Amino acid sequence: MPKHLPTHLNPRSPLVLDTRELPRRPGVLRAVNRTVAAPADLGVELIGVPEGADLSLDLRLESVSEGVLVSGTVTGPVEGECGRCLRPITDSLVVPIQELYAYAHSTTDETTDEDEVGRMQGDLIDLEPALRDAVVLALPTNPVCREDCPGLCPECGVHWDELPAGHSHEQVDPRWAGLSQLTRQEE
Ligand SMILES: [Zn+2]
Ligand SMILES: [Zn+2]
Repeated sequence: MPKHLPTHLNPRSPLVLDTRELPRRPGVLRAVNRTVAAPADLGVELIGVPEGADLSLDLRLESVSEGVLVSGTVTGPVEGECGRCLRPITDSLVVPIQELYAYAHSTTDETTDEDEVGRMQGDLIDLEPALRDAVVLALPTNPVCREDCPGLCPECGVHWDELPAGHSHEQVDPRWAGLSQLTRQEE
C-alpha cells in the first residue's frame, strides 16, 4: 500500500500518539511514557526486538508552529544470532528518536516530502514508521556475539574456541578418508 495514502489510525493502538490533550500553541510540552508490545518484524535479518517484547517509550511531545515534534528514547531487548558463529545474542537497545509531524495544510505539509517529515493524521501520530527506522538504524548489520569472535572452522563447523590450537584438516586420518570422500561426493 502506498504510504502517502491517508490511513485510519486507531487512537487506542499503542504506537499511535493522541495529541488532543496537547494545545496547538508553540512551546507546549507533554510527556508520554508507556510500555508497549513490540510489533512483528522489528529488526533486520539476524537481529531484532522479539515480537511482543516490552518496548518502553519515553517521549516528549512538543507543539511547534508547524506541527508536533516527538523526541525521546525507545528502550527494549534485542535477540539475534552471531553472524560468525550463529550463537544466540541477547542484548538491549536504547534508541534516540526525533521526528516532526506536520499539521495538515501547514507550510511544512505543503513544501516537504513525506519521506522527510512525518504528517499528523488529524490529532493522531503514527509512531511506528519512525520507530522502525530508528531501531533498524541502531542495529548492527553484522551482529557478533563478541567483537573478537573467531567464528567456525569452515571444514568441520566447530567453534574455534572449542578446537585445539593448530587445528587443521590438512591431514585426514586414514580411517576417516573414506567418509570424507563420501561427503564430498554428496556435495
Ligand atoms: Zn560468535
Ligand atoms: Zn575443523
